Amino acid sequence: MASYVASLIPDQPYGAGVYAEGRVYVEHWTKDGNDIHRGEFRSVIVCGHQLRLVNAPAPTKRRRLARQDDLLGAWGSATLKGLRVAVVGLGGTGSHVALALAYLGVGELLLLDSDCVETTNLNRVVTAGVADVGAPKTLVARRRLREIDPGLRCTALAAITPDKPHPELEDVDLIVGCVDHDGPRDRLNQIGVDTATPYLDIATGIDLDAEVPIIGGRVIFVRPGGPCLHCFDELDPMEVGRWAKDPSQQALDRQHGYGTLEPDPAVVHLNGITTYAAIGELIAWIAGWRSPAQFLDIDLSGFLEQSPGTPGSRATPRRPSEPLFDCLSCSHLRGSPVMGQATTAPRSKG
Ligand SMILES: [Zn+2]
Repeated sequence: MASYVASLIPDQPYGAGVYAEGRVYVEHWTKDGNDIHRGEFRSVIVCGHQLRLVNAPAPTKRRRLARQDDLLGAWGSATLKGLRVAVVGLGGTGSHVALALAYLGVGELLLLDSDCVETTNLNRVVTAGVADVGAPKTLVARRRLREIDPGLRCTALAAITPDKPHPELEDVDLIVGCVDHDGPRDRLNQIGVDTATPYLDIATGIDLDAEVPIIGGRVIFVRPGGPCLHCFDELDPMEVGRWAKDPSQQALDRQHGYGTLEPDPAVVHLNGITTYAAIGELIAWIAGWRSPAQFLDIDLSGFLEQSPGTPGSRATPRRPSEPLFDCLSCSHLRGSPVMGQATTAPRSKG
């Protein structure tokens, strides 16, 4: 039966599963020429009201997580241990994310960045010290993460690119984007949408030229079937376009005054507050307390119009919204029998 169905859809895998008593058994078949290959999923991740890893590793008592297990429950910690997470960008926000995930007991991290530590990074890259200047950010971070959790599986990889394939991002349970450019942000958003992988996008910004100085950030959680970064109109098409150009064209752009802005100010506490607000949404989802915010505004200016006369920092969730009907990035999935209704994204953990 399975071979017959697989032969009818030569370019698509066919899967079937049985779910009972909290365990799942799923097999899949793919036609390759005249051969039909059979495989099985060792675990299945469910991205519904709660992020739940079915067939997660059996909960075990890890003494270093004892105080956390009381809060997240045995299954919450087991899900964290079973997760494979890609952190893209190991700078001001990404270094905080990597540290937090290691402290939380995530089982496997992929770290993507091609930059080396510079002296001007030392005010905010929390995985690096003075002796690390000149060393790759990913390797420096990995060393620190292994000090926190020697059992953590951690792979250092090159940065995301405009045009090369990134198969390493197609078999993870979560992508966290900690990049400072809309080009890679657009690529990560699309990979997340196309592979039904939750994508957590973190951005911070300081604008001292505005009438009132802006010190803030935002967190967007793109989940399968939900609105993406394009639906929120959060990507600058000009910036995205510049990233995709080859180096000679980019040099020409700079001659004409595009993409030559001096780097904005950056501080550790803004990165930390924004990052940990994002981690808080992830944990709320994993623990099953509530759905995570789709869009969270972080405001450290503290005197914007929401509450005149009540100064103070804010992390404010926006009202949930639906995906844009004609979104260029994600509307092609609407109406599909797989993505339009289901909230289950099976993923091989081979
Ligand atoms: Zn969209």
